[in-house]
Amino acid sequence: MDGGEKSDLICAWALEEGFDRAGVAVLDRSEHEEAFERWLERGEHGEMSYLEKRRDVRLDPRLILDGARSAVCVALHYHPLRDSVESEGDLWPRVARYARGSDYHGVMERRLEALAERICAAFPGTGTRLYVDTGPVLERELAARAGIGVAGKNTNLLHPESGSWFLLGELFTTLELRPDPPISDLCGSCTRCLEECPTGAFPEPYRLDSNRCISYWTIEHRGPIPSHVRSSIGDWVFGCDVCQEVCPVNPGRDLWPEGEFHLPKRRADLDLASLLSLERERYVEIFRGTAMKRAKLEGLKRNAAVAMGNRGDKRYLPALSQALCDADPTVRGHAAWALGRIGNEAAVEVLESALGDEEHPVTRGEITASLQVLRDVGGQKQNQAQADLPTRVD
Ligand code: SF4
Ligand code: SF4
Repeated sequence: MDGGEKSDLICAWALEEGFDRAGVAVLDRSEHEEAFERWLERGEHGEMSYLEKRRDVRLDPRLILDGARSAVCVALHYHPLRDSVESEGDLWPRVARYARGSDYHGVMERRLEALAERICAAFPGTGTRLYVDTGPVLERELAARAGIGVAGKNTNLLHPESGSWFLLGELFTTLELRPDPPISDLCGSCTRCLEECPTGAFPEPYRLDSNRCISYWTIEHRGPIPSHVRSSIGDWVFGCDVCQEVCPVNPGRDLWPEGEFHLPKRRADLDLASLLSLERERYVEIFRGTAMKRAKLEGLKRNAAVAMGNRGDKRYLPALSQALCDADPTVRGHAAWALGRIGNEAAVEVLESALGDEEHPVTRGEITASLQVLRDVGGQKQNQAQADLPTRVD
């Protein structure tokens, strides 16, 4: 069997194992080495320091496995277009679509393992190594080489039939396989993602500054979100889909999504207020096996408080007031910030009482700042009311 026949066979097996597309990439040094190094130098990876590590392997995928010759790249669709549950409630529409169901890592790893077993059984002595988003791999570049998609200006891979709603995985192998042809550019003169990104996270096409990306702040960042960033996050709670939602390559794609990526009933009832008050035991129970666990309970509560503050809905005042007693100082601080955004006289009372009990210096600072905001607003209103009083005319 020659390399072309092996490629065809293995890609057909990948589809049988449940992937939506598969292609083969030849292993060569990255063509984007200079751009990647400059991106790191500018610090546009934020606090994701793992991207600085194992740079030799990341830039040369031949080092991933002794004798590695080819990578079988796979794509799995996740866009749940037909799940009506997901359009309900105040939380789930603001969770990135890929994260609403099961954790894709486990789903894809199991399928890649099954694919590796088939390859090793058919071609004894073959070496394999698989990755799903976790290894030192420039996976979008590799997948583009395998014809899985082509880079869009929003830095996602685009495919003419399935848009960008898909996840990537790779199986490195010592087999010499025939590479697939790359796909040509799909963006043309379009710049919608660059214009519509709520935080202006693209300094130029094909370049993302993580420090300005909602996905970075809501998923990767630990601890307090800088106060100047919070309002730009809007009401996204985990990730952000805007630069995909606006992409004209995406709409109208009638994909049949993976069952695993649907929002299960045990999480569907969760809303912002109940997320903010979630107990750890319940969190473990309902978020087990999901990608959302990456943000951890404290991160999800922090994000819920920011979303509530940015929505400015007074319905959230009781939940935010209660969160001033949360065990985590970051959650308490962000609840205080949100109360400062939407609060009223009752919120001032709650914040004043919380300040009396608060010992954490950063959280005290948050409460004090919010009280200042509310008093300033109250003062302005009072001044305005006085200015509006009718003047007596004798
Ligand atoms: Fe901008 Fe959201 Fe895309 Fe990040 S995920 S680049 S914030 S549109
Ligand atoms: Fe390309 Fe336009 Fe899609 Fe951006 S929105 S990735 S520019 S096609």
